[in-house]
Amino acid sequence: MNVLEKFKLNNLVAVVTGAGKGIGRGIAISLAEAGADIVVASRNKKDLEETSIAISSVGKKCLVVPTDVTKKGELENLALKTKNEFGKIDIWVNNAGGLPDATPRYMSKTSEDEFDAQINLNLKAVWSGCVIASNYMQETGGSIINISSATSKNMKPNIKNGPYGAAKSAVNSLTASFSLELAPNIRVNAIAPGPIPTENFKDSLNLSNQQEVDSLTKVLNIPLQRLGEVEDIGSAVVFMASPASSWITGQCLFVDGGS
Ligand code: NAD
Repeated sequence: MNVLEKFKLNNLVAVVTGAGKGIGRGIAISLAEAGADIVVASRNKKDLEETSIAISSVGKKCLVVPTDVTKKGELENLALKTKNEFGKIDIWVNNAGGLPDATPRYMSKTSEDEFDAQINLNLKAVWSGCVIASNYMQETGGSIINISSATSKNMKPNIKNGPYGAAKSAVNSLTASFSLELAPNIRVNAIAPGPIPTENFKDSLNLSNQQEVDSLTKVLNIPLQRLGEVEDIGSAVVFMASPASSWITGQCLFVDGGS
């Protein structure tokens, strides 16, 4: 097969969680541009419908399924609706996650409820997604991609959000375990983004204007001298979803400008 052909996702069906905005929307559009039909899931139907319009404009089908990923039954419903509409699931991206606001969540001071909320969204929902997606991929094969974070690199401490950092580090470990259990038919990889100024990112750091966002490149000392864009993550996900990466499983790819 010609090498460029290996990056194409024609006739494949991809599910993306947290696809209503930010990185998830970018991933969904990139997968559609590469040729896949897309199922978009997050809690807000209006956001999903906006993503759906963008996907339709690149000529691919899009199914909107409002879903709270912390509820396993809703993830099961998402998989079932995808199967009913498209007959199969080839690609599943566990992207929904993040921090709700700029409140510091120190490891030693966080409440049990807050710790549970971080683990449920950023780790347990990824586990549920992997279990459910893999049940639908057993015979046909597929690729599962978990969105981790550069905060998980080399056991770097997360200064203000310990529970989030711990959850994302555990996502890398969970990815490796699933990859062994699900080989050879299903590949499981993680993508770990560096700083990307999405709404969630700006809220979590209390950044109120573009100047503050721009100054981060220097503060964070990013070797490639810019913040990331959602398309940077979209390209990496297309690679991990496509036959171009067919001999790669159990890996975490850091897409972080080298920081
Ligand atoms: P975002 O807030 O812009 O988008 C997150 C999406 O997930 C939204 O559509 C939101 O509605 C959805 N979501 C949140 N909780 C949900 C739930 N319980 N059920 C269903 N959907 C839910 O955030 P983002 O910056 O695009 O982050 C996307 C992913 O990338 C997250 O997993 C985040 O941890 C990770 N990440 C982001 C950055 C960054 O710099 N932006 C860096 C590293 C990792």
